[in-house]
Amino acid sequence: MKPADSIQDLQYFGEFGGINPSISDASTYTFLSAKTMFDTFEGNADGCYLYSRHSSPSNLYLGEALAAMEGTETSNVSASGMGAITSVIMQLCSAGDHVVSSRTIYGGTYAFLKNFAPKLNIKTSFVDITSLKAIEAAITKNSKILYCEAVSNPLLEVANIAALSKIAKKHKLQLVVDNTFSPLSISPKKLGANIVIHSLTKFINGASDAIGGVVCGSQECIDDLRNVNDGAAMLLGATMDSLRAASILKNLRTLHIRIKQHSANALYLAQKFESLGLKTVYPGLVSHPSHHVFKAQMNAEFGFGGMLTVDVGSLKNANTLMELMQSKNLGYLAVSLGFYKTLFSAPGTSTSSEISEEEQKIMGLSEGLIRFSVGLDNDIERTYKAMFKCMQSVGVV
Ligand code: PLP
Repeated sequence: MKPADSIQDLQYFGEFGGINPSISDASTYTFLSAKTMFDTFEGNADGCYLYSRHSSPSNLYLGEALAAMEGTETSNVSASGMGAITSVIMQLCSAGDHVVSSRTIYGGTYAFLKNFAPKLNIKTSFVDITSLKAIEAAITKNSKILYCEAVSNPLLEVANIAALSKIAKKHKLQLVVDNTFSPLSISPKKLGANIVIHSLTKFINGASDAIGGVVCGSQECIDDLRNVNDGAAMLLGATMDSLRAASILKNLRTLHIRIKQHSANALYLAQKFESLGLKTVYPGLVSHPSHHVFKAQMNAEFGFGGMLTVDVGSLKNANTLMELMQSKNLGYLAVSLGFYKTLFSAPGTSTSSEISEEEQKIMGLSEGLIRFSVGLDNDIERTYKAMFKCMQSVGVV
């Protein structure tokens, strides 16, 4: 089943026949018998709700749609992408365990693994995720997780998920893939990932009005996360609010249309920027070192995604250009992604600033790098022409 069709086929009605499901406006739920309440605590009363930090009807509707999209048995939505990521890592790892992670990942995830997890005696080796040899070499007897982003933030490295899955299986690791940059375009579970995570804050919600996250996985994995005795989602408490779950579900239904437009616009700009001689990184360009990997594992109709980077030589150039483009209303100088307007930022001083300058250099994150989340512009040629003028006036082309 294709991922967008799976979302389309879900059918929910509201309490009074509404064509959207009713929003569960309650933190707690009554029981007709005390025994059912006890059974629900014990996890033996399917279909009963207990308390909304555990689960709520609205969160389950959104979770079911996201699980359908990713092809997993089920999912658990959370208050943020970081709420999803940290709960999975803490659920799967105990003190003394080890994570093998891609070294180019979102700065917050990097900071968690590098600075916070060691407080719990969970250690991480950061590796070049495109080097299967480096990954194998980093695995120890204590390794529990192989962690990566399908398309990495901000360098747009592409993970070969089928190959990673083979390594994970061989060493009995859980392959955890953050698919925030490539929803619909890549289906990590179908390629062998055990757990798929999203920051819903980005393309999936697409309105830049909410923070949210999801963990998609097996029923057993999600039951573990929600367990009242030792579940990280239940006990750490990064729960999504029902009102928000309802609004994100409504936006999710147009994701397939938006992703196609984001991808088409990003491909257009990437090809133009590259032809100007700018160092441009976009997985849809043949010059991208992992273009063939993305192509082999993609759901072709959704394209190569809405994210691209260009290197304009220096931080000063990057800042001047971004300010100028914003003043011409070509997009906003803002972090995050997936909005209808183009968003641009210099990751070295923003979303990846948790990574030290030295480490940024090693991973190839240069100070003149601008990350673009390309918007839904109806006339991308017009946008390009105006961006070109800005680039000329800053002197980068
Ligand atoms: N994963 C990726 C790839 C991200 O870019 C981000 C945020 O920028 C996150 C996870 C964290 O998500 P959130 O901000 O919703 O906690």
